[in-house]
Amino acid sequence: MSDKLQKIIDALGHYDGPLVRLMEVCGTHTGEIARNGIPSLLSPQIRLIAGPGCPVCVTVSAYIDRLCALCREPRTTVLTFGDLMRVPGSRESLAGARADGGSVEMVYAPADTLRLAQEAPEQRFVFAAVGFETTAPVYAELLEEAVRLDLGNLRLLTSLKTMPQVIRQVAQMEETQIDGFLAPGHVAVITGSQPYEALARELGIPFAISGFGAASLLMSIYTLVRLKGQGICRNLYPEAVTTAGNQRAQELVLRFFEPCDAAWRGMGVIGGSGLRLRDEFRGFDAAGQRDTEQMVEDVTPAGCKCAEVLIGRISPGECPLFGTVCTPGQPHGACMVSEEGSCRSAYEYG
Ligand code: SF4
Repeated sequence: MSDKLQKIIDALGHYDGPLVRLMEVCGTHTGEIARNGIPSLLSPQIRLIAGPGCPVCVTVSAYIDRLCALCREPRTTVLTFGDLMRVPGSRESLAGARADGGSVEMVYAPADTLRLAQEAPEQRFVFAAVGFETTAPVYAELLEEAVRLDLGNLRLLTSLKTMPQVIRQVAQMEETQIDGFLAPGHVAVITGSQPYEALARELGIPFAISGFGAASLLMSIYTLVRLKGQGICRNLYPEAVTTAGNQRAQELVLRFFEPCDAAWRGMGVIGGSGLRLRDEFRGFDAAGQRDTEQMVEDVTPAGCKCAEVLIGRISPGECPLFGTVCTPGQPHGACMVSEEGSCRSAYEYG
C-alpha cells in the first residue's frame, strides 16, 4: 500500500468533523464498497448510503406485470437478462410466469435476440430493455442491426433511465440530506463528466467520479469529505472518463431514443429521466400508448422497504425482512435480487 493511500485511510478513520452523508449512485460501487469492507475503515462521522443505481431495483412492478402478460400472449416469447427474472411484479415475477407456462428465455448478449428472431420468424420476441445510460448504447446497436436485417418480429419493451434527474431529486429530498455524491463511473464513461459538473454547480454539493478499485473509492470519499459544502466535481476516473464522454455512443442512442418521463420504484415519475423509442422506430416498440400510460404503478411486496432503501432513508438491515424472509436465495424485494442491489450487497458482505 502506498504512503498516500495509508494517509487517506488514516484521515478517513480519524475524521471527527461534522457528520458527512455521502451517496453512491452506482450499483457496482455499492458492491465494491461492501466487498472491500470500506465502511469499516471510515469514522462514524462519515456515512455511505447506497442510492438508486441498480437498474432492476428501480424498475416498477407495472413493467414486470406487462412482461408477464406478454409472455402469455400467443406466439410471443419474452427475452431478458438474468437479473430481471426474479424481480417481483405486483403478483408474480418472470420466473413465476415461466413456471406457470409463460414463454420466457434468458439471454446473455443482445446478439442472442437477433439469432432467436432470425431462427423463428413466425414467433414474436420481446426483449426487456432495462438499464441506464451505460446499457442504452447496447440496445441502440441492437436496433441498428435489427433495422439492417429488417427483422419484423423483434420488439423492445423499454424501461431505460438516466441518472442526472434522479440524483437531483434525491439531493433535494429533505430526509436524505446528502453532502456529496460518488457519481456513477460506468455511466460517466458514456456521458462524460459534464452532467455531474453541472449538477455539482446547481446543487452546491461536491461530486466525485470514481473508479471501482478500493484505492479509487477511498480517494473519492476523501475528496468529497474535503470538498463538503462546495459545488465542485472531481473526475477521479480519468483513465476511462473524459469531459465529453463517448460521443459515438451518445449519438447512436439519440438516433433511436428520445428523453421521456420515467417511473422509478419508490420515487414515482421523474420528469425527463427516461428514454423511449423515437416515433420512426415505433415498429420495434412492444409498448402501446396504453402501456406507456399505465407502466407507472408500483406495488411493493408486503413488508418490503425497497422504496426507502433506494433513497437512503433506511439501510437494508433496518428492513424487518432482511436476512430472514428476504435472502438472495429467496428474494422478497427487488433490492435483494441483483448483485448490484443494496440489500443483496449488505447481505453478501455484511
Ligand atoms: Fe425489500 Fe428484502 Fe431489502 Fe427488505 S431486505 S427492503 S424485503 S429487498
